[in-house]
Amino acid sequence: MTCLSNVRGSWMLAGFALLLGCAGCSQVGSATSKETPVAAAEIPPSASAEEHPMFEAAPAEGQEFNKLTAAEERVILHKGTERPFAGEYTTTKDPGTYVCRRCNAVLYRAEDKFESECGWPSFDDEVPGAVRHVPDRDGSRTEIVCKNCGGHLGHVFEGERFTEKNTRHCVNSVSMKFYPEGKTIPPMIKAKDLDVP
Ligand SMILES: [Zn+2]
Repeated sequence: MTCLSNVRGSWMLAGFALLLGCAGCSQVGSATSKETPVAAAEIPPSASAEEHPMFEAAPAEGQEFNKLTAAEERVILHKGTERPFAGEYTTTKDPGTYVCRRCNAVLYRAEDKFESECGWPSFDDEVPGAVRHVPDRDGSRTEIVCKNCGGHLGHVFEGERFTEKNTRHCVNSVSMKFYPEGKTIPPMIKAKDLDVP
């Protein structure tokens, strides 16, 4: 785990470095302790605004994305990460569906959610075609974004052997909205076609 081996200096730096690795998140291992130091109430975006510009995807004509709170914008548009063990869906086990907070696209099913104890909701599969996998600018991780609106979800890891699928989508709760089984999911708000590979 590169982030851990590089941690030096103040707790703040240590916390930030851990968060770079863990939030949204890292390979699960020694970085998953609940005692992980958290430098601030809110974890800052994983890089400068210059390196991670605000996501500019716009809704299709005549559509409007769901309004986001400042905390939601920080994660979804600015690629921030919520605090570990703080998200509202970290331990949710109810049957149902998780949709994109910004555009209502169906992203994950409750039956694919599992307990990884990493501090964020974990899924070993996505709804086919719903999630885009993008090399993270940190050079090591794979970012996951909503394929429709491009909103930041978290990161995906493989080879950790949590489940048979051997995949962990580590997703910020704030990037999603949960609809319990039987509850009507609102229609997806279509985005303008994105010029993203
Ligand atoms: Zn979306």
